[in-house]
Amino acid sequence: MSARAQIGVTGLAVMGRNLARNFARHGYTVAVHNRSYAKTESLVADHGTDGDFVPSESTADFVASIARPRKIVIMVKAGGPTDAVIDELIPHLEEGDVVIDGGNAHFPDTIRRERKLADLGLHFVGMGVSGGEEGALNGPSIMPGGPKESYATLGPILEDISAKVDGVPCCTWVGPDGAGHFVKMVHNGIEYADMQLIAEAYDLLRHGLDADAAEIGKIFEEWNAGDLESFLIEITADVLQHVDAETGKAFVDVVLDQAEQKGTGRWTVQNALDLGVPITGIAEATFARALSGSVPQREAGRAALASDAGTWDVTDRDAFVEDVRLALYASKVVAYSQGFDQIAAASAESGWGIDRGAMARIWRGGCIIRAKFLNRITEAYERDADLPLLIADPYFADIVGKGLQAWRRVVSQAALNGVPTPAFSSSLAYYDGVRAERLPAALIQAQRDFFGAHTYRRVDKDGTFHTEWSGDR
Ligand code: NAP
Repeated sequence: MSARAQIGVTGLAVMGRNLARNFARHGYTVAVHNRSYAKTESLVADHGTDGDFVPSESTADFVASIARPRKIVIMVKAGGPTDAVIDELIPHLEEGDVVIDGGNAHFPDTIRRERKLADLGLHFVGMGVSGGEEGALNGPSIMPGGPKESYATLGPILEDISAKVDGVPCCTWVGPDGAGHFVKMVHNGIEYADMQLIAEAYDLLRHGLDADAAEIGKIFEEWNAGDLESFLIEITADVLQHVDAETGKAFVDVVLDQAEQKGTGRWTVQNALDLGVPITGIAEATFARALSGSVPQREAGRAALASDAGTWDVTDRDAFVEDVRLALYASKVVAYSQGFDQIAAASAESGWGIDRGAMARIWRGGCIIRAKFLNRITEAYERDADLPLLIADPYFADIVGKGLQAWRRVVSQAALNGVPTPAFSSSLAYYDGVRAERLPAALIQAQRDFFGAHTYRRVDKDGTFHTEWSGDR
């Protein structure tokens, strides 16, 4: 078999299939392989006209069909299947070959795999891919990590097939070893927060305006023409105006209200706890999904817990809609600010040197959180690459400050009227916490010293102190 393919893709379910087609459409000769050969055959039969595919049934033939140094993208179920595929490839690979995992791997697994392959003289690139199946086909946002030298040959191909915004590819080298998958994980965490915030805005409008789903869909459509312009706002407008064919009801009203998850939000929160970075927006969004699925608890709560809530009295509907829009924008900036803090903390801890402005740039297109305002984030990091707090950047501080009264009105009205807004409320609490002159953490330190002799520091002199508390006030 002649080794003529420029890149290989193994794992041809929705993502791998579309990624392979994307490579082929860009003129690359693509070696394709899947555990069960039927998927390989159907790709070539259904989409052979996309370009030049080289199908193989065996792993040996697949590897042999790729020109050296080989570039092989693995697109299989994350976890054990990825290890199984790597182990199957290894005996056929040669020094300098690059193995790229485009699945949703947990970044510690990526670090482990990179070390293992490096010992064998092979390059391993953990690559975050966002945009779902549509993005994989037409241009995803791509977050490759791994050894920098592998990006010299791999990068141009990935940039070629990635989404473009203003002619700039939504792909860049993120950093060594697990950096790519780490950033993809935080991207997904931010996606959780973004979706939860949108859901809360919808819920507030529904209650406050006593409006139906389609009316609210129209509001989202208007919002998508302004600062909030984003893929998620756009699809929310569509979803809310979608009618269930079977019942004729609003689609959203026939969907069971239990949100599921695959795990990247949970990983993001677990990692933030390890790093000690408050990502309250992402955490609340993850827990809100968990609450929605807590069926016995919700049944017990519905049966026993009083509401004692007021009733909405929205006299100026336009003003209320604008308040919710401003609160949504501010809460969203907090969620992103927290996510970027997490990236900075992990980057510092692992020595990844991640450029946060570049991350915002490659999220502008192709991915699920693509949004107009990511340009603003890139600009903020261009002004100050070491910005300690994104929300404190002059642009964001100003725009959030202008909407602050609206944010406070929305959160307090929600509480008074019994509408749960965990992400809106916690984001406002974070804002007030991070800007506070003095926090009640001083009392917590005193309590810790009281019961556990944990010591404390003072505002008026350096050093660590302990007070003998017994019997003395
Ligand atoms: P998937 O349903 O996650 O996985 C199916 C693929 O994995 C099939 O090709 C299957 O082969 C293969 N596979 C499973 N176990 C295997 C094993 N032990 N050995 C070899 N191959 C095995 O497919 P997907 O939805 O296309 O996603 C692929 C990867 O991309 C996943 O890691 C996913 O998390 C990630 N991802 C998905 C999306 C999305 O929107 N779907 C977005 C970004 C990233 P067979 O056909 O032989 O069963």
